[in-house]
Parts: sequence; structure tokens; C-alpha cells
Amino acid sequence: MTFDVKDKVVLVTGAASGIGAATARLAAERGARVIATDIDGERIQAVAADCQCIGLKHDATLADDWDNAIAAAVHHHGRLDALVSNAGIVNYEPIIDLDMARFRKLNQVHVEGSFIGLQKAVEQMRAQSGGAPATGSIVLTASVMANCAAPAISAYAVAKAAMANMARAVGVELGRKGDMIRVNALCPGPTRTPLLEGAMPPGAMNDPAHWTDVPLGVPQEPEDMAESILFLISEESSFMTATQMVVDGGWSLT
Ligand code: NAD
Repeated sequence: MTFDVKDKVVLVTGAASGIGAATARLAAERGARVIATDIDGERIQAVAADCQCIGLKHDATLADDWDNAIAAAVHHHGRLDALVSNAGIVNYEPIIDLDMARFRKLNQVHVEGSFIGLQKAVEQMRAQSGGAPATGSIVLTASVMANCAAPAISAYAVAKAAMANMARAVGVELGRKGDMIRVNALCPGPTRTPLLEGAMPPGAMNDPAHWTDVPLGVPQEPEDMAESILFLISEESSFMTATQMVVDGGWSLT
């Protein structure tokens, strides 16, 4: 089974690498009209060329950049059907060493960035609905860390918990207001991307001994997360909103 995203206009942030790049590629392959954005203006153009989609430099913490990204979707494709707020950074530091500037940065990228994106996407989805209930799907890439704990990752865990509950709160609010805009958080477990690889000892990613905590025994691939995101965008998940979808090979239950 493949999830149907054909002709949907999909904006993916943090799309120059990892989960975002895999999502942009898979969505484009399945016929979606993709706007791929990232703070890294060079690498996003490479991904966009590969996907034959629009690529844009976009800092997810800046409201003006969000306006530009949504304007690009409307300019090129006439509307916005889905937003994947996926841009992310990580910080592995014990609480006592964590400078407040780095704490704020993590929250700015994940929490403020997703919140501004939600506001702008909902505004556009309402504007294009022509008086009918607005439709659309918004996916926030949170993390299993929204509901779990591990050493030296408290600032990231705080930010991801905020994103996951943002999806719940905004999903409920929009539904109650009569919109058919669905908002969900995807909570991935350890996934083979530069973000995770940068924090692991050399060789660990491919060493089965490193993955004994994952019941399925291996890290997830970015493409696994992309399929889950496409499911949340597609009509196959049409009654899912305000939820957290955990995709982690069972890791968070061990
Ligand atoms: P990645 O590093 O491969 O990709 C993240 C992308 O976000 C990069 O291209 C980076 O340039 C971009 N980015 C960073 N700051 C930005 C900003 N301010 N504005 C726009 N773009 C920005 O990492 P990934 O693993 O693919 O991460 C994607 C998302 O998945 C992140 O939100 C991350 O927290 C989340 N996540 C990852 C894992 C994992 O194990 N890899 C697990 C759970 C959740």
C-alpha cells in the first residue's frame, strides 16, 4: 500500500538532510507538489534538483521566511495542503553545563519555529477554503524524547514535548472551531541521519550491539519516517488529529 499524496501541495522544512530530505523525495516521487526548505540554502537546492521540486532557503525561526515559503507554495501551485515542520537541531549536554542561549536556540527552532509555521499555514488554509471548512494536514516532527528521558538531552526533550503537545492543543482547537485541518506530531525513535550520527561513536550506527535496546534491533531509516509522514498527510489518516504517532521500533517501551 502506498499513501496517496498525489497533487497535494506539501511544504517540508529541514528538507536538506535526513528525514526532511527523504520526505521531500518520497512525496515528490508519489506526485505531490513539494516546496522543500532549509536554512542551508546550498544543500536545499541540491535536494530540490534531485526531487524536481521548488527549493527555498528558509530559517524556521523567522516569521518573514515562513511568509516567503508559503507565498512560494501559493505562487507556484495555488495553495498549501500540508506542512511538515521538521527542521531540527540537537544538543547533548548535562543540565548543569547548558548555557541558556543554547537552551533558547533549541526552543526557538523547534517550538517557536513550529508555532509560527502553524499560524501561517492555518491562515493560508483558511484563506484558500472559499468559505467552506478549511482543510489540510500539519505534521510536526517531534521525537520519542517528548515522552521519554535520557541523560544529557533535557533541553531537546523539553522542546520536543512542547511540539508534541502543540499538535494536541492546536489540533483540538482547530477541530472545535469547525476547521478540518488536522495537526499531528510524529515521534520518531533513533533514525539514521546526520543529526544522530554526529552524536554517536564512529561505527556504532552499523554495529548491532549498539541497537539491542531497540526491539526491532536496528536504527530506523529516514525513509521509514517519510512513509509515516506521508500517511499523516494523506487521506488514509483522515480521522487522525491532535495525536502523537510514535514510530520507534519499540525503543521507547524498553
Ligand atoms: P538532520 O540534521 O539530518 O536534518 C535537519 C535539518 O534541519 C538540516 O538540514 C538543518 O540544516 C535543518 N535546520 C536546522 N535548523 C534550521 C532552521 N532554523 N531552519 C530551517 N532548517 C533548519 O536531522 P534529522 O534527524 O533528519 O532531523 C529531522 C527532525 O527529526 C528534527 O526535528 C529532529 O529533532 C527529529 N528527530 C530526529 C531523530 C533522529 O534520530 N534522527 C529522532 C527523533 C526526532
